[in-house]
Amino acid sequence: MAFDFDLVVIGAGSGGTRASRLSAGFGARVAVVEDGRLGGTCVNVGCIPKKLFVYASHYGEDFADAAAYGWDVGPRRFDFARLRKHKDAEIARLNGVYARILDEAGVTRIDGRARLVDAHTVAVGDRHITAEHILIATGGWPSLPKTPGIEHALSSNEVFALDALPERVTVVGGGYIAVEFAGIFHGMGAATTQLYRGDLFLRGFDGDVRRALASEMRKRGIDLRFGSDVTRIEKTGAGLRLTLNDGSALETDAVLYATGRAPNTRGLGLEALGVKTGEDGEIVVDDYSRSSVPSVWAIGDVTDRLNLTPVALHEGICFARTVFGKQPTRPHHRDVPTAVFSTPSIGTVGLTEEEARAQHGDVLVFRSSFKPLRHTLTGRDEQTLVKLVVDRTTDRVLGAHMLGPEAGEIIQGLGVAVKCGATKAQLDSTLGIHPTTAEEFVTLRQPV
Ligand SMILES: Cc1cc2nc3c(=O)[nH]c(=O)nc-3n(C[C@H](O)[C@H](O)[C@H](O)COP(=O)(O)OP(=O)(O)OC[C@H]3O[C@@H](n4cnc5c(N)ncnc54)[C@H](O)[C@@H]3O)c2cc1C
Repeated sequence: MAFDFDLVVIGAGSGGTRASRLSAGFGARVAVVEDGRLGGTCVNVGCIPKKLFVYASHYGEDFADAAAYGWDVGPRRFDFARLRKHKDAEIARLNGVYARILDEAGVTRIDGRARLVDAHTVAVGDRHITAEHILIATGGWPSLPKTPGIEHALSSNEVFALDALPERVTVVGGGYIAVEFAGIFHGMGAATTQLYRGDLFLRGFDGDVRRALASEMRKRGIDLRFGSDVTRIEKTGAGLRLTLNDGSALETDAVLYATGRAPNTRGLGLEALGVKTGEDGEIVVDDYSRSSVPSVWAIGDVTDRLNLTPVALHEGICFARTVFGKQPTRPHHRDVPTAVFSTPSIGTVGLTEEEARAQHGDVLVFRSSFKPLRHTLTGRDEQTLVKLVVDRTTDRVLGAHMLGPEAGEIIQGLGVAVKCGATKAQLDSTLGIHPTTAEEFVTLRQPV
């Protein structure tokens, strides 16, 4: 049977764009369907605009710290609208880069919302497109609870389109996006409250790091409340009134819900086709990202394996190699380094202490907490934490964790070591770069 294309990709986000371009590079005839802006979540309403906001949020502290280093800084004013304008221009530029990448690879771009008609046909409006393979890379979508008044809340989609900085912001949630936005709003000058219904935020991260971040955020003045949730949101003349689970009220100007994301599978026609999905709507795939229907594949957040851009890219690369490159390649999801761009930031790779104890039993923990050199002059009360988790029997480094400035930049390098199976002795034999925070990772001598 002759198909219109060898591959139709649904979604031109991180994973879909990478898979389209590489598959075309292997000689496949590829079309990609996108109903939003090219680049998907990461480029438009995720990693990139968020990191730009994080940069913006750090200047206030930097200006304040400058005095100890001899700099007098004049009157300060933060213009959110200007930041938003510059951010929008950069995102528009990136949208153009994505279009060029696809065009130069010879990928046919189709605008619109796609749904599956049969195992080899995708419909976009009235148009039917056939392909030997279909790749679903539709990502995820913010998931908000059904709290009364939830229509007054922002999700991470809308937060990037705010026209002005609210004076008072409440962030609801305990995942990495929630802590990042609490830091962003506070740093920009909003009176910030973060509410999380659990005992401690950032479930799945190392316990020491979670506790240390909570302490640093509180020191900065963020009103961080655990065991706290919103039961009702009401619009008032002055803003919003949140009723909390203890019956108290909290007045705020904006409430951001960062309460998780769900796979974007609704309306795709998966059920009718027999594509197996999991409890949260995620597409169930095998080790090679193939769904229960052999011609249908899925990568990225829609499969809910590890929802990060580099993972979606990696799965896209493995897909293209497997299907069009004649090199069956399984994506791996172990020892993936990651960062939380909170203030201060977190970097982490490998097992947390809790996971290591559960999986390996006998582990050694090396930990150091100290005031960074920069703050010896500023006097700022900030602690950096570095931590290694080591298997006592094999001496292998199972996990490396950090809380402090540039944690992501530092942990990326350690990620190579952990992935290569480095031992503690090998880290000890590595000389430090002095004076840096990173050198602490090779000078930790006594287990705690
Ligand atoms: C606020 C925020 C911050 C984040 N920060 C980071 C970070 O710092 N680091 C990191 O690694 N990850 C981060 N992420 C996660 C990262 O953005 C995702 O893991 C990544 O974008 C997933 O890529 P994807 O290809 O699976 O899907 P996406 O990039 O979401 O792309 C999916 C695309 O499919 C399109 N689409 C959906 N349905 C259809 C349809 N039926 N027809 C046509 N098109 C469709 C969508 O419009 C979208 O463009 C963040 C996410 C958020 C929300």
